Amino acid sequence: MVKSKIENFDFALNPVIGCLGTCPFCYARIYAKRFSDFWSAQQSSFSREEARTLIKNFKPVFMNKRLLQPLPKKYSRIFVNPLSDPLYWKYEWLFKIADLIRAHPEHDFFILTKTPAVYERNRALFEIPNLWRGVTITGDPCIDRIYREISFGGKRETGMFAGIDWIMAEPLLGNVKKHLWRFPNLRWLVAGPQNGGKAAERRVPHYGDIADIVEYCHAHHIPLWIKRRMMDCWDGTECRHVPRRKT
Ligand code: SF4
Repeated sequence: MVKSKIENFDFALNPVIGCLGTCPFCYARIYAKRFSDFWSAQQSSFSREEARTLIKNFKPVFMNKRLLQPLPKKYSRIFVNPLSDPLYWKYEWLFKIADLIRAHPEHDFFILTKTPAVYERNRALFEIPNLWRGVTITGDPCIDRIYREISFGGKRETGMFAGIDWIMAEPLLGNVKKHLWRFPNLRWLVAGPQNGGKAAERRVPHYGDIADIVEYCHAHHIPLWIKRRMMDCWDGTECRHVPRRKT
């Protein structure tokens, strides 16, 4: 368990490192290359050398030793997976991670995916009172994709994502507001600009897209956290609101 460098969380758990996704702005891939040697010691399924190669190549590796580390004593918001996506986790990994979350109702755990159908497929493991199911939305093509995918989970008839608790709108690349009505149980929204990729090629969020999110969250009493780096293109009020505890 490490103190989170992500400003809106207290700690990061990272029980899995690596992902089979191909997102163009993935910062996790860069970290995996940089820290593969150090992280290879935090698992026992492979030799150090094998684990190092897998992590370097960003293949999902279960860091089982991390689940044995003590959790903070004080209530904390813990980001489960900054460096992976549960879509690519093995069932037995999910099972062990769900067990840990269930055993610690004193904390809130936040999980994030780009494919919320994964929550539908493993319903029993994701329906835990202190687990916040999140989805990344960056703009129009993204919402179209997740809508298609969750349709396989049986939601085609409504187009609603009732099981989603929080949204990560980072990198904010388009207008997210017009889709927020699809999330009737939204309890937190976090928005930020592009992080990965070459600085000169980064897309700057549109002022109007940020303003729309602020207006929506205000009108619907949804806590909103705007990342510090976004303040370069937003001169409105600082929004650094955290949600109430879930349980
Ligand atoms: S899903 Fe997340 S971890 Fe996987 S490639 Fe995309 S940004 Fe990286």
